[in-house]
Amino acid sequence: MAESMTNAELRKAQRGARTAFSATKTARPIPNPSPNKYNAVKTTCVGRETHLHDSQREARRCEELQLMVKAGIITELTNQPVFDLVINGQKVCAYRGDFRYRDRGVLVVEDVKGHATALYRLKKKLMKALLEIEILET
Ligand SMILES: [Zn+2]
Repeated sequence: MAESMTNAELRKAQRGARTAFSATKTARPIPNPSPNKYNAVKTTCVGRETHLHDSQREARRCEELQLMVKAGIITELTNQPVFDLVINGQKVCAYRGDFRYRDRGVLVVEDVKGHATALYRLKKKLMKALLEIEILET
C-alpha cells in the first residue's frame, strides 16, 4: 500500500519508474520546432495521454508524473491548470501552472521553471497569499 511506504521506498519507486520508462520511449522534439524566446523546444510527451508541451523538460516531467499516476503514487493529474487570482471580488489575473495533482491527498501545483520572470514571481506570491498554494518548482 502506498500509505505504508517510507520516504526512501517512495524515492526508490520513483527512480525505478523513471528507469523503466527511459528503457522504452523518451520524449522527442516535434519536427520543425519553433523555439520561443528562451529557446525551449515544444515537445510532445509520450504516455497514456499525450500533450504538446512548451519544452522538453516539461514533456519529460509529464511522462514521469503519468508513470507516478500509474504506480498509484499520485492522483488527479491535470495539465495546465488555471487559477483565477481574485482580490476584493475582482479578477486581477490568472496563473497557469504546468501540472496539478494530489500526492497522498495533498494538492500540488507544479511549475517546470526554466526562467522565473518578474510576472511569474508576482503570480507565485499571489497564489500563496490568496489561495494558500505554494508552487512547487521542478
Ligand atoms: Zn504531457
